[in-house]
Amino acid sequence: MAKRTVTQLQLKGKRVFIRVDFNVPLDEHGRITDDSRIQASLPTIRYILDQGGRAILASHLGRPKGKIKESLRLRPVAKRLSELLGQEVKMAPDCIGSEVEKMVAALRDGVAILLENLRFHEGETKNDQGFSKQLAALADLYVNDAFGTAHRAHASTVGITRFVSQSAAGFLIERELKYLGEALESPARPLVAILGGAKISTKIGVIENLLKKVDALLIGGGMTYTFLKAKGLEIGKSLLEEETLEAAKEILQNLEKTPGVFQMATDCLVADKFDATANTRVVPVTEIPREWQGVDIGPQTYEKFAGEIKKAKTVVWNGPVGVFEIDKFAEGTKKIAQLLASLDATTIIGGGDTAAAVNQYGLADKMTHVSTGGGASLEFLEGKELPGIAALSEA
Ligand code: AMP
Repeated sequence: MAKRTVTQLQLKGKRVFIRVDFNVPLDEHGRITDDSRIQASLPTIRYILDQGGRAILASHLGRPKGKIKESLRLRPVAKRLSELLGQEVKMAPDCIGSEVEKMVAALRDGVAILLENLRFHEGETKNDQGFSKQLAALADLYVNDAFGTAHRAHASTVGITRFVSQSAAGFLIERELKYLGEALESPARPLVAILGGAKISTKIGVIENLLKKVDALLIGGGMTYTFLKAKGLEIGKSLLEEETLEAAKEILQNLEKTPGVFQMATDCLVADKFDATANTRVVPVTEIPREWQGVDIGPQTYEKFAGEIKKAKTVVWNGPVGVFEIDKFAEGTKKIAQLLASLDATTIIGGGDTAAAVNQYGLADKMTHVSTGGGASLEFLEGKELPGIAALSEA
C-alpha cells in the first residue's frame, strides 16, 4: 500500500517531528568519524525547512538502555548538522519535558532543533504510550526518515504516530520502499538474489520468501556450510549454525517446488586458520579437509554465479560471500561487487556488511541503491511488514 510522503504535507508554520537516523560512529573523543548518515538526511530536512516547516529532529545514538550516558549525547551531531545546513541547529537538553516544549514553542518557520538521544528514556524502545504522547505533544506532523529503525516498534517510530494528525515518509524511506518494493513486487526480470553472510538463522525467512520471487537465488558466505552439513557433507571447521540445521534441511527438501532457482557454491577457498597468515587452497565443497574451514567462494562458483548475474535485469545482494574483512578471503566478495558495478541492471545492496564491502571498494555510487538499513532491509526481503512503515498514513 502506498504511504504518504513528505511532499504531500502542508508544512508552512507547522511543527514537524522528524525521526532521523543520526546513529553515527564516534571516536573515543566523541568526534564523528563518519557523517554519511547525517548527510543522507539532509534532503528531507532541507525540504521541510524550505517549505517553512519548523523541524524537530529526533534520533537514537548507541545503546544507553534507558539511562543518560554522557558519551552518547547528540551535541556533536547538532554541531555537524549546523555546518552542513549552513544554519544553527539548537540542541535541546532532553527529548521531552517542559523546557523542551518551551524551546519548540519558540521555534520560527524554517528553523531546526535537535532533541537529545531518544534512548535516554526507556519508554522509547518499549514503545510506551505515555512517552509517545509526550513526544507527540511537541509536534503537529510526523515524518519518518530513519529506515534503519523502521523494523522496530518504538515510541518514535510507531507510538507517536497515533497522537499526531498525519505521518509521512521522508525521501530516504521513500527511496528504500521504491527500490526494495519494486524488486519484490514488479522487478525487471530475470531477478537474481545473492545471499551470504554468517548468520543463516536471520536469513531462513528471507530464503523462503525469495525462493518464491526470484529467478535465481545464489547462496554464498558462511551460511553455505550449514547447508552443506544438512546435505551430509564434511565441512571441517567451517561455520556451522547447529540450531538452524533442521530448517536448512527443510529448505533443501522443498526445492523441487522451485526447480533450478536455489544455487549453492560448488567450490570454496579453505584456510587452515582464521587470519591473514593462513594457508589457503581451493577445493570442491565435497572435499573440505577436516581441520580447515571455508572462508570464500571458489573460482568455479564465481563463474557459475557470474553467469546468472550477467543475465539479470535486477539484482538484490545481502551478505558478503566470504570473510571480506580479511584481504586473503575477500576475492569472491570483491569480484561480485565489481561485477554488479559494471552491470546494466538495477542493483540493490542490502545494508550492514554488504554496504560496508561495497563502500570499501569505492563502488557504492555504481549501484542503483544501497540500503541504509541492514536489519530493516532483511525483514523487508523476508516479506515482513515493517512496523515503522505500516504506522505511516496512507497516501
Ligand atoms: P551477516 O551479519 O550474517 O550478514 O554476516 C556478515 C559476516 O559474515 C561478515 O562479517 C563476514 O566476514 C562473514 N562471513 C562471510 N563468509 C563467511 C565464512 N565463510 N565464514 C565465516 N564468516 C563469514
